[in-house]
Amino acid sequence: MTRNTNAPTEAGALRGRLETTTASVAPLDGALWLVRHGFPVFPCDHPEAPRCVGLHKTCDGSRGKHPAVAFTRAWTLDERKVHETFARGLRNPAVAVGACSGPDEARLLVVDSDRQGAIEDVAAARGETWPATMRVWTAKGHHDYLWAPAALRLGNGLGSLQGQFDGDVRAGNAYVIGPGALHATGVLYELEDPERPPLFAPAWLLDALVTKPQYTARRTQWRDASRSTPGQPRGARGLAAFVLDSRPGDRNNRLFWAACRAAEDARDGGEDAQDALMEAAVRAGLSAQEAATTIRSAYKRTGVTA
Ligand SMILES: [Zn+2]
Repeated sequence: MTRNTNAPTEAGALRGRLETTTASVAPLDGALWLVRHGFPVFPCDHPEAPRCVGLHKTCDGSRGKHPAVAFTRAWTLDERKVHETFARGLRNPAVAVGACSGPDEARLLVVDSDRQGAIEDVAAARGETWPATMRVWTAKGHHDYLWAPAALRLGNGLGSLQGQFDGDVRAGNAYVIGPGALHATGVLYELEDPERPPLFAPAWLLDALVTKPQYTARRTQWRDASRSTPGQPRGARGLAAFVLDSRPGDRNNRLFWAACRAAEDARDGGEDAQDALMEAAVRAGLSAQEAATTIRSAYKRTGVTA
């Protein structure tokens, strides 16, 4: 991965310090940086802890990302509490996105690129330049931090960027793993420039996020899909789009079908689309409980534990 090596001296110093210290020191440094800059912090699992410390009943095995507390309430901006939490045991720091408040009561929006430059590509395709905002490098790409107007009530939906952006957005009731955290692959989450604050999100991005995604050939796709002919949606994104495209009468059927395909993919060692399906189902209008029940029964039918 190519990273900017011309960052200011303090940035270099912090990065250097994070890289040369042990895994147990970097999370504390990252957490302290976050609260000092007004980002509410809470602890998540750390991949080097003996077992996942996530609050969930059963762990899906993806280490280092599961919240250790009820993060929508149990975040802190208190340095002393951060010391207590992160000096005691191995924990990854995470940011409670919905609890962040910016200028003019703006809300935090994190653009999560699954590969380096993914969001820059989206901007370029629209004749725009991606702004140099606060950035945290992740295992696969980067998190870009931006402020968005509270009135937009953004969530985790991609809007019209669905299918165009190689990544996700996080706003509202969501969290992101913060700088100083260790990814299961051994990559450290790092600030690109500790002195660069979040900028206001560009208007074109906000427009895109509040615009409904466009899907074509809905009936054809559904019939094709139910007959398992070529052209059926696959992969987390395809299956989520398929669920999102449901009308009230066929939401559960489509979710069940998509969840069966997702379970098959997961069983065969592919990516697990469960989270994407859950999100799509809720956005399509199902309650989280209904969606979870349908997904669970689809996984059970396929012999995969959800
Ligand atoms: Zn876990």
